[in-house]
Amino acid sequence: MNGVPKKNKIDPTEARRVVGRVLGENVRQHRSSYTVAVFAMLAVALSTAFVAYIFKDVINKIYYERREDLIIPISLGILAAFVIRGVATYVQSVTMAKVGNSIVARYQHRIFDHLMKLGLDFYHDTRSAQLAARINQNIGGVRELLDIVVTTIGKDIPTLIALVGTMILLDPLLSLFALLIGPPVLLTVRYLTKRLRVIHRESVTLNSHLLGAMQEATQGIAIVKAFTMEDQLRGKISKLITRAEERANKISRVSERLTPVTELIAGTAIASMIMYTGFRAVYDAQPPGAMFSFITAVLLAYDPVRRLARVQVGLERSLVNARMIYEILDIEPRQADSIGAVPITVPNGEVQFDNVSFGYGNGIQVLHNVSFTADAGKTTAIVGASGAGKSTLIGLVQRFYDIDGGRILVDGQDIAHVSKRSLRQSIAYVSQQPYLFEGTIADNIRYGRPDATDEEVIEAAKLANADEFIIKQPQSYGTEVGENGITLSGGQRQRLSIARAIVRNASILLLDEATSALDNESEKRVQQALERSMQGRTTIVIAHRLSTIVNADHIVVMEAGRVVEEGVHETLLARPNGVYARFYQLQGKDESPIILMDEDETAERMGPTE
Ligand code: ADP
Repeated sequence: MNGVPKKNKIDPTEARRVVGRVLGENVRQHRSSYTVAVFAMLAVALSTAFVAYIFKDVINKIYYERREDLIIPISLGILAAFVIRGVATYVQSVTMAKVGNSIVARYQHRIFDHLMKLGLDFYHDTRSAQLAARINQNIGGVRELLDIVVTTIGKDIPTLIALVGTMILLDPLLSLFALLIGPPVLLTVRYLTKRLRVIHRESVTLNSHLLGAMQEATQGIAIVKAFTMEDQLRGKISKLITRAEERANKISRVSERLTPVTELIAGTAIASMIMYTGFRAVYDAQPPGAMFSFITAVLLAYDPVRRLARVQVGLERSLVNARMIYEILDIEPRQADSIGAVPITVPNGEVQFDNVSFGYGNGIQVLHNVSFTADAGKTTAIVGASGAGKSTLIGLVQRFYDIDGGRILVDGQDIAHVSKRSLRQSIAYVSQQPYLFEGTIADNIRYGRPDATDEEVIEAAKLANADEFIIKQPQSYGTEVGENGITLSGGQRQRLSIARAIVRNASILLLDEATSALDNESEKRVQQALERSMQGRTTIVIAHRLSTIVNADHIVVMEAGRVVEEGVHETLLARPNGVYARFYQLQGKDESPIILMDEDETAERMGPTE
C-alpha cells in the first residue's frame, strides 16, 4: 500500500519532533515578521505591567498623598498604556496572521507539487476527495500550531504571571463594575461579526474553488499525466492560492479590529473611573482603589486566561493536522526517470510489447509474457473480458508503472530509458470516463497542447463534432465547465475529451472506448469523432463496440493477462473453436453498438477455454 498512512496516537517524542519540524521549516523564513510580532508582544506585556505598576501610585500618591497635580498625568498615562496595548496587539495579530497565511500558501504549493509528482500507485490507494479535504484542514492546523506556540510563550504566560499576583489581593464583590463596559463591547462585536460573515462567505467560496480545482486535478491524474498538464495546472492553482491568501488576510484584519476597539473602550472606561474616583478621593477622602485594580486586573487577565485554557485542545488538534501533512509530503515518488533518460523521438509511433510481465506490486501477476506490435499509423483493438489486463496495457504504454520483465518499445526505443514527460507528450489519451477540469471549454481542449492557437482549438472541436454544441453555449468557447460551470451530457463530454486528444497532435492515440450506452444520435457523433481522431495515428483501443473491432487493422485477444489470439476479424472468425470466433457466435452478430467481451457474465457464458 502506498496511500496516505493512517495513525491516530501521538507520543510525546513524536509530538516534539513534529513541532520541531514545523518550527524549523517555517520560523527562519519569517524571521523579520516574527521579530515584529515578538516586539509587539513585549509592548503588550510591558504596557500591562505598567498599568499594574501605576496603581501603586494611583492609590499612594492620589488617594493618600492627595497630589492633585498627578491625577491627570497618571490617568492619561494609563490611557496611553491601553492605546499602546491595543495597537501592539493589533500589529502582533496581523503580523502573525500574515505569516500564518503565507505558511498556509507555502504548504499548499508544496503539497500540490508533491501530489503531481506521486505515481498512480499512490492514487489507487487514496480517495482523492478525502485527500483534498484532509489537506485543507491540516494545513490550517499547522498554522494554528505555530500561532499557539508563539502566542502562548511570547505573550500569555508572561502577562498572566504579572497579573496573577495582583489578582490574589482582589475583592470579588467589585466584579459587578466590570459589567459596565459590556454593552459597548457587545455592540462593537455585533457590528464586526456582521461584516465578518460577508467576508467569510466570500472566502469559503474561494476556498472551495481551490479545493475543487485540486480535487479535479487529482481525480483526473491519469489525464493530467498523459497530457503532461502538470505545469498548466500548477499555474492555475497558484493564482487561486494567492487570491485565497489575500482574502484570509482581510478576514484577520477585520476580526482583529475588535481588539483595539475593546481596549480603547476598556481604557476610556477605566481612565474615566479613575478620574472620577480620583477627584472624589481628593475632595471627599474616599479611596476606591480596590475597585480600579479589580476591574483592571480582570480585564487584563481575561484574554490570556481564555487563550491558555484553549491551548491544550488546540495543540492536540494541530499536532494531528501537522503530522498528517508530513505523512503526505514524506511519501517518496516511486517512479522517477532512469538515470541518463533521454527525450524520446516518435516519428512513426510503432508500439511493440516484447515479452512483457507485470504485477501491481501486491504479489499478483497481471500480465504474462505479453507480446504484440501495434503498427505505426494503424488501429490495434484490444479485446478481452473484464479483468483480462486491457487497461493495464494502456497504462504501461504511458509508463504509469514500471514493468517486471520484457520491454515496451516505441519506434524501437525502450520506454524504460526515455524521459516520461517526452513519452507522454507523444501520446494522446481518451479515457472511458471523459474528465473535464475547472475552466472554460477552450481551456479544457487546450490542455491537450498549451501552445495550440484558437484556430487549432476550434479545428479540433470541429473534427470531434463538438463545435456544433459549443457555439450554442452562453459564452461559446469561453463557457465555464466543471464543478461550477454548465452541465454537459455524457456524449458532449466525450467529444470534448476527443477534441483534447486531437489538438495534441500526437502520433500515438490510446483509447478506452466507453461502455456506457449513449442515445443513437450521440453515439454516431462520438463514433465519427473517434474515427477522425484515429486517422494517420497509431491507435491502441480497448474496444467494446463491434464496429470498432471489425474495422481494426489488427485485433489482440486477451485472456487473464495473456495474449491468446491475434489477427484481423475474418481470420480470427475462421479459426474453429477460437476464443474470438466462439465469442462472436455468442453475441457479436448483432450490429448495434453492444458491449463486446467486457462483461463478466460474457466470460462465464463462454465457459472454460483451456
Ligand atoms: P481490464 O481493463 O481488461 O478490465 P485491468 O487491466 O483493469 O483489466 O485489470 C487487470 C487485473 O489487474 C485485474 O485483475 C485487476 O484486478 C488488477 N488491477 C487493476 N488495477 C490494479 C491496481 N491499481 N492495483 C492492483 N491490481 C489492479
